[in-house]
Amino acid sequence: MTDLFDLEHIWHPYTSMLNPLPTFKVKRAYGATIELEDGRALVDGMSSWWCAIHGYNHPELNQAVTDQLQNMAHIMFGGLTHEPAIELGKLLLKITPPSLDKIFYADSGSVAVEVALKMAVQYWAALNKPEKTNFITTRSGYHGDTWNAMSVCDPVTGMHQIFGTSLPNRIFVPAPQSRFDGEWNPQDIQQLKLQIEQHHHSIAALIIEPIVQGAGGMRFYHPEYLRQAKALCEQYNLLLIFDEIATGFGRTGKMFAWEHAQVEPDIMCIGKGLTGGYMTLSATLTTKQVAESISRGEAGVFMHGPTFMANPLACAVALRSTQLLVEQDWQANIQRIEKILTEQLNDLAQLDHVADVRVLGAIGVVELTTNVDMKTLQQQFVERGIWVRPFGKLVYVMPPYVITDDELHYLLAQMSEVVKNMQGVNSNVLA
Ligand code: PMP
Repeated sequence: MTDLFDLEHIWHPYTSMLNPLPTFKVKRAYGATIELEDGRALVDGMSSWWCAIHGYNHPELNQAVTDQLQNMAHIMFGGLTHEPAIELGKLLLKITPPSLDKIFYADSGSVAVEVALKMAVQYWAALNKPEKTNFITTRSGYHGDTWNAMSVCDPVTGMHQIFGTSLPNRIFVPAPQSRFDGEWNPQDIQQLKLQIEQHHHSIAALIIEPIVQGAGGMRFYHPEYLRQAKALCEQYNLLLIFDEIATGFGRTGKMFAWEHAQVEPDIMCIGKGLTGGYMTLSATLTTKQVAESISRGEAGVFMHGPTFMANPLACAVALRSTQLLVEQDWQANIQRIEKILTEQLNDLAQLDHVADVRVLGAIGVVELTTNVDMKTLQQQFVERGIWVRPFGKLVYVMPPYVITDDELHYLLAQMSEVVKNMQGVNSNVLA
């Protein structure tokens, strides 16, 4: 099944070139189905890492790309502009926090994070506080793979050991422990408070994924953390950056996760689901005050300008994807998915080798007590006709919103069977 050229020459995410994990060749994908070259059809549980919110091969998204292609695939954004960027911008300002007013289009989630960090540093430089260049963040975070994004990822599960001193030193505090659905423990904010009190003179911003920490552990934490973090940022002059790259576009049950806490950031990064997974595009939004202060600074401009900034094809499909989302009763749909995830996954919590089961919006997570063998598990999922890609101790799904009840039941039933039958496990518990 694995393509030999691919195996020998093409790097896949986080894989060894000496002992690569098998890959499955995809022929096409439609709705919530991924069809492999050998004809097998898999129900998709991953939305291609949060992106394909409307599923694959969506006629209206295809049309948006085709229509835009007749005009232009790309045009430089320096000195030129275009309708897709403008219309997308208007729609984004309607659905993001009211305080956000200026939009910077970038290429990928990681670049959006780089842009956000640069904005924060330029902001303080413009306000004559050039010493405010560092960042504070929580453990278990994930913000991307580029240099500075990597520096604010969890230092242990992230890549800090490998890159060592080549990474700038950031200030880390423990990840919030109070669960989203549990009691707020006031102790949770203490370390953040202490570190901010001590280091605020050198800190430009707090960067955090609101409510859901994604690739750093699929953790859902209490909204009170964000409310208190915001108060600290205001008290000690830190900007607040929300990385909503994974959480955006309805995934957590709100359009964006900040709404769970009603806390507005100064800067917000979005990506992934922005284009419905059609192509890479991200955006960093900020307030009028931050943007205008940067522009009043010595440089007079914000120092970033990617070649493919606001790529028209990407903006056109992002516009259509976001319209599709807001035009439907997406909340009811996410609740439908959440209900089925809860009903079908909760029982797994009784298994000895399952540490926790949690569901929020269209995200379902089964946390095991030990790391999974990704190769074996992935093979078993494919044999059962589902696409689920676990990592670490986590087996999780975040399906396309178009998944039908039947497809979702199938996906979860098969996933549960694999989890129950994991090696060395007393599978009678849920028999
Ligand atoms: N931030 C978060 C919260 C993410 O989940 C990701 C992607 N997993 C990124 C940033 C980086 O995005 P990209 O992979 O598009 O660079």
